[in-house]
Amino acid sequence: PFEVLVIGGGPAGASAAIYTARKGFRTGVAAERFGGQLLDTMGVENLPSVTYTEGPKLAAQLEAHVGDYDIDVINLQRAEKLIPAAREGGYHEIVLANGASLKARSLIVTTGARWRQLGVPGEDKYRNKGVAYCPHCDGPLFKGKRVAVIGGGNSGVEAAIDLANIVGHVTLVEFDSKLRADEVLQAKLRSMSNVDIITSAKTTEMTGDGEKVNGLTYQDTGSGEEHHVELDGVFIQIGLVPNTEWLRDSGLELTKFGEIAINDRAATNIPGIFAAGDVTTVPYKQIVIAMGEGSKAGLTAFDYLIRTEPV
Ligand code: FAD
Repeated sequence: PFEVLVIGGGPAGASAAIYTARKGFRTGVAAERFGGQLLDTMGVENLPSVTYTEGPKLAAQLEAHVGDYDIDVINLQRAEKLIPAAREGGYHEIVLANGASLKARSLIVTTGARWRQLGVPGEDKYRNKGVAYCPHCDGPLFKGKRVAVIGGGNSGVEAAIDLANIVGHVTLVEFDSKLRADEVLQAKLRSMSNVDIITSAKTTEMTGDGEKVNGLTYQDTGSGEEHHVELDGVFIQIGLVPNTEWLRDSGLELTKFGEIAINDRAATNIPGIFAAGDVTTVPYKQIVIAMGEGSKAGLTAFDYLIRTEPV
């Protein structure tokens, strides 16, 4: 059994494991895909002290850093079930998809999140080639250009406001007949001169020249007419889904959005179970934040282990 078992091998999980291994605790990492969202990311330009890197390269560096310590990495294994310890100080159990079960006195859950996809032709083909999901990450790549934001909820409207300050022009596309974002955000967006808002619009395709995106096609849900907008980029903002389906019946407190509820020390509602990164309620889903939260969770696990007698 482990003293610390980290579930998830993204930036949060790697940081947590490095911190607990450096405290001398027997640490394991079980991950479906070590590297997490980094494996799907091209350029990263907002990790302070690293001017430019690429997601897969950063993932390999994290893996090498974890490999410098005596950490058991169990890669390509999905956790399917959490059975919390019966008593404080006891062993929690994680059941993997292959049927194996891992036990640990403390757990750090860092299973991340995934962007909800629109599921239209061209979206996969042009991902990272004009189709983007993260305005904080990729907004500056479209400086002075024309982009669309799909989604009229808070995240879509926030993204459109953010991008309108950087890019040349923003078209906000919403399926519904009205925006769902807070009124104050809608008012701010409407006050910006380089923004068009299109509602009752069903996006049907991301078009491109074979290399990168050059526009999107939408259908007016009222008239049924098809329209095409010429663009250099499309930001899809229809939701970030935390990877917590497997935790639903575990007793771990999740919010109505499925995020793991944590306090400012990364502790969950169950003693000895901590969580970090995109899977949690922590605001702003970014690499530097996931790394910071992971190290925080590692230190909180350390605090727990030195104060709790094993049972
Ligand atoms: P993740 O990276 O999502 O890692 C989760 C880990 O958990 C993975 O190893 C996964 O395989 C594993 N896992 C999931 N479910 C299970 C399970 N049931 N059992 C076992 N393992 C499981 N952020 C930036 O700061 N800058 C950028 O430029 C940037 N660009 C991005 C571009 C794209 C295309 C995307 C998708 C994201 C980008 N982000 C960027 C966001 C950033 O990648 C995330 O905030 C960060 O990766 C979150 O780290 P994490 O460790 O919390 O989760």
